[in-house]
Amino acid sequence: MENTKEMRKWLDDLNLGHPLVIAGPCSAETEEQVLGIAHSLKDTDVSYYRAGIWKPRTRPGNFEGVGALGLKWLQKVKDETGMKTATEVANRAHVELALEHDIDLLWIGARSTVSPFIVQEIADALEGTDKVVLIKNPVNPDLSLWLGAVERLSTANIKKLGVIHRGFSTYEKTKYRNIPEWQLAIDLQTRFPDLPIINDPSHITGKRDMIFDVSQTALDLNFDGLMIETHHDPDNAWSDAAQQVTPKTLVQIMKDLIIRKESD
Ligand code: PEP
Ligand code: MN
Repeated sequence: MENTKEMRKWLDDLNLGHPLVIAGPCSAETEEQVLGIAHSLKDTDVSYYRAGIWKPRTRPGNFEGVGALGLKWLQKVKDETGMKTATEVANRAHVELALEHDIDLLWIGARSTVSPFIVQEIADALEGTDKVVLIKNPVNPDLSLWLGAVERLSTANIKKLGVIHRGFSTYEKTKYRNIPEWQLAIDLQTRFPDLPIINDPSHITGKRDMIFDVSQTALDLNFDGLMIETHHDPDNAWSDAAQQVTPKTLVQIMKDLIIRKESD
C-alpha cells in the first residue's frame, strides 16, 4: 500500500482550519440523551457526532449498547443538527445496518483490530464504500496488527481512511487507562505521513482531568484531530463515566488548546 496525498483528501475537503473534532457520548443510552447532547454540540467545532450503539465490553454483565435502535437516533441527530454521524462497527451485520442508516463515519474498535478475521469481514462488507472509515489501534502495542488492518481496508478500495490512537493496555498500573506509547503512533505516521491520525484522549486517560494535556501532546505531534467522549451528565453515564466531559468542558478544551500550524 502506497502513501499518497489522496489519503488526506476527505479531511482536507472539510476545509476546517482547526483540528477535526469527533465528539459525543461513549454509548447511546436513550433518544433524549443522544439528541440532547447533540444539540449542545451543534454550534461548536464538532464535525462528527459519535455514539456507541454496539458496545464491546471486556467483561460480561455491563451495558452492551442499545443496538440498531440507536441508529435511528443518530439519523435524527443528522436531520436536526446537520452534524455528521459516527459509530463503531464490529462485524458484517453492524456494517450493513450502519450503511442502511446512512452513518457517515464508521470506526473499528481496539478489540476488533486485534482480529484479522474480523477486520477482513468488515473490509469485505465495506468494499468500495465512500464512507469515512477509521481504525483504532489494537488493544495491545502491536504496530503490525494496526498496519495490517489499514492494509486490509485499503485493499478493499476504501479511500476515506484514517486511524485513531487510543493507547494500549498493559498489565502494569500507570496513571493512564491505556498507555499512549506515542512512539507507536509516530511510527505509523512515519510509515503513512498522509494518512489522517486522530487522537482519543478519553480512552488513553480514563480520567477527564487528564484529557487536556494528552490532547495538547497529540496536537504538538501533528495529529489531525481528536475524538473526545462527551456526555451531558458524565457521572451518570452508562459506560466510561470517569472519562467523559460535558459539552461545555469540551468547548473550553478546544478553546484552550494551542494549535500550531505546520508552518509555525
Ligand atoms: C469507544 O470508543 O467507546 C470504545 C469502545 O473504544 P475502544 O475500542 O478504543 O476501547
Ligand atoms: Mn468509551
